[in-house]
Amino acid sequence: GEGHGGISLLLIDRDMPGFSRGRKLKKMGWWASDTAELFFEDCRVPVDRLIGVENAGFIAIMSNFLAERLSLSIMAYMTAQLAYEAALDYTRQRQAFGRPVSGFQVTRHKLVDMATRIDIAREYTYRCAALMQAGRNPIQQVAMAKNFSVEVCEQVTREAVQLFGGMGYMRESVVERLYRDGKILSIGGGTDEIMKELIAKQLRL
Ligand SMILES: Cc1cc2nc3c(=O)[nH]c(=O)nc-3n(C[C@H](O)[C@H](O)[C@H](O)COP(=O)(O)OP(=O)(O)OC[C@H]3O[C@@H](n4cnc5c(N)ncnc54)[C@H](O)[C@@H]3O)c2cc1C
Repeated sequence: GEGHGGISLLLIDRDMPGFSRGRKLKKMGWWASDTAELFFEDCRVPVDRLIGVENAGFIAIMSNFLAERLSLSIMAYMTAQLAYEAALDYTRQRQAFGRPVSGFQVTRHKLVDMATRIDIAREYTYRCAALMQAGRNPIQQVAMAKNFSVEVCEQVTREAVQLFGGMGYMRESVVERLYRDGKILSIGGGTDEIMKELIAKQLRL
């Protein structure tokens, strides 16, 4: 059918005629999760493969988004937390100009900014989780949490790579991976821009 009232969810078996899988796509990050194109050509689906109610697929997808975006917000500040901890360890060990890199005031201030942002992202995300637990539907707050946490993730992972110096650019450093993996979070589950459109709508702007 047409528009969002014409979407239904279907269960497709891998060996169903008309369904095929394309090549595995090479990604910037998230290598632990394979991504490929899926093709549906004249794929006939038996009626018993309908998930939920016919034409109610859009509502099902939308109701899943709240939990998905909350998870992505958690993933974002936890990616930042891992990068922060790695940067803290490294700068305590690494010596430059006769002292640990963590001994420079500029390093301490960077670490303080990282810790501050992570803490605020975490606390706001907890607030969203509490609202959901109380049976509310905090669409606006969860979109805000996702965008804020993702921004924190991008800032913190970038600073962590910087604090590692040349080692931060090496594949063997965890911060190099976190920096690349974090990028998907501003795209998946709804992009930053779509989150802002959603927030604007909720604020009646
Ligand atoms: C590794 C990976 C895994 C994924 N996993 C899943 C998954 O499991 N399930 C799933 O359903 N999807 C998944 N996706 C898809 C993902 O949700 C989409 O890529 C994402 O929502 C953006 O859609 P798009 O790629 O079509 O971008 P487009 O819609 O083409 O957007 C391109 C650019 O235009 C901007 N834009 C688009 N519309 C507007 C607008 N109205 N106003 C302002 N700016 C706009 C976007 O923000 C973006 O910057 C995955 C993507 C990747 C890369």
